[in-house]
Amino acid sequence: MSKVRIEVSARHLHLSLKDLESLFGLGYKLKPLKNLSQHGEFASSDTVTVKTKGGQIDKIRVIGPLREKTQVEISVTDARKLKINPPVRLSGNVAGSISGTLIGPKGEIKIKEGIIIAQRHLHCNPKQAKKLNLKNGQLLSVKTIGERSLTFHNIAVRIDDNFDLSLHLDTDEGNASLLGGVCGFGDLINK
Ligand SMILES: [Zn+2]
Repeated sequence: MSKVRIEVSARHLHLSLKDLESLFGLGYKLKPLKNLSQHGEFASSDTVTVKTKGGQIDKIRVIGPLREKTQVEISVTDARKLKINPPVRLSGNVAGSISGTLIGPKGEIKIKEGIIIAQRHLHCNPKQAKKLNLKNGQLLSVKTIGERSLTFHNIAVRIDDNFDLSLHLDTDEGNASLLGGVCGFGDLINK
């Protein structure tokens, strides 16, 4: 069995250029705070409030670089707070997902769709995929290690040159298996 690193992603959002400028002002550039494990991705010091009819969550961090489509990734706990029921989706697949209002320092916008619960996914580059015999889009399982060890199923494999081997879970999933809020390790079950 192969060990994989597990990273727990807190709620965050990705913005399109148009939406960035509506929220932060024309010509605004995100302020990078920290590079993330996936090459080119960074956490910015910029945050946005997400509001629905049922509630709001402040200070949701913007992750750069900009994307084609705006997308808000929250946990099920967050969804309860907002009184919405978002679909579980892979990044980028936002068609027909949940609407809401985004509020930035310079303006606010309504998004027709874009609020999702992220599907569990394993990032890897082509070399790592070959070594582990993984195919893009396949589903696998990872068993976490520790006092509250559990096995996560339906993890989608995503292969890209910019990726590095890492399982991405959200905070609800990380908390459920006592991953310490940030990082842990698990055994990859490739079946
Ligand atoms: Zn990810």
